[in-house]
Amino acid sequence: MANSRLLSQLRELTQNLEEMVERRTAELAESNRKTKAFARELEEVIYVTSHDLKTPLRAISGFSQFLAEDYSDKLDSKAKLYLNRLVDSTKRMEQLLDDLLNISAISSREEKFKKTPMSEMIKEAVAMTSPGADTEVVYDEEKLPAVYCDRSKIVEVLYNLINNGIKFNDKPRKRVEISSRRSNGFYEFTVKDNGIGIEKRHFDRIFMIFQRLHRREEYDGTGVGLSMVKRVIEEHNGRIWVESQLGTGTIFHFTLPEHNDGNRKKPIGERSE
Ligand code: ADP
Repeated sequence: MANSRLLSQLRELTQNLEEMVERRTAELAESNRKTKAFARELEEVIYVTSHDLKTPLRAISGFSQFLAEDYSDKLDSKAKLYLNRLVDSTKRMEQLLDDLLNISAISSREEKFKKTPMSEMIKEAVAMTSPGADTEVVYDEEKLPAVYCDRSKIVEVLYNLINNGIKFNDKPRKRVEISSRRSNGFYEFTVKDNGIGIEKRHFDRIFMIFQRLHRREEYDGTGVGLSMVKRVIEEHNGRIWVESQLGTGTIFHFTLPEHNDGNRKKPIGERSE
């Protein structure tokens, strides 16, 4: 008798628990949907704002350059200095807006994943960096796999990593080396440079948008690249991390699944119909 009472209590408890899990799952899916919709809206605001700001900025930039060129004999050295700062600042703002437009264009562009040889994408990315005679980008075409990916986005990832390896580099002979290995159903790629290196305490920070470790006078940039890289890799169901030694160099590791069903990552709670 006691046993059957216990059993029915257990059944009731199990049912309550199942209902609770179901309710929580539905709540999670709903909050996920809202977060996604909010993120999409935010991205649209960023796109429209950056786009609209470019027109007045172009006018400011153009007229300050006219002033600097057409009135240079009428301006004293202090006025010229101020004007040069104005021209520099508008150029910088234009660069920031271009980066913001680029990042939102990349997020909204969604090609279906296609199997693409990594070596082809590296070649394209290296050409974009137009490396000087003091720079070598090394990789073994034969040893690199083909991966399921959104080609233009992975080219953008490679461009950013390779370009950083060349940019944040004070060696007379700059070297960036790319290789891959298989690891638990993933391909792990490494982009290794012999540059200035990164302190361990900054390893997380560098992947955040607008975070930079140097002044612009030392190294040019806006701090948008790595945040975009991380986003694209995660969208491909991969991971990215960094290891580095100050003064010696940096290695970026990222993974991409060996087998990919051709779909983008679905956030938890979203059904994959
Ligand atoms: P940006 O290149 O525009 O500064 P990123 O988002 O690409 O922005 O990088 C963020 C910061 O991380 C850089 O400003 C730099 O301080 C650091 N960093 C990135 N890649 C490297 C690298 N290969 N070697 C040393 N520092 C790097």
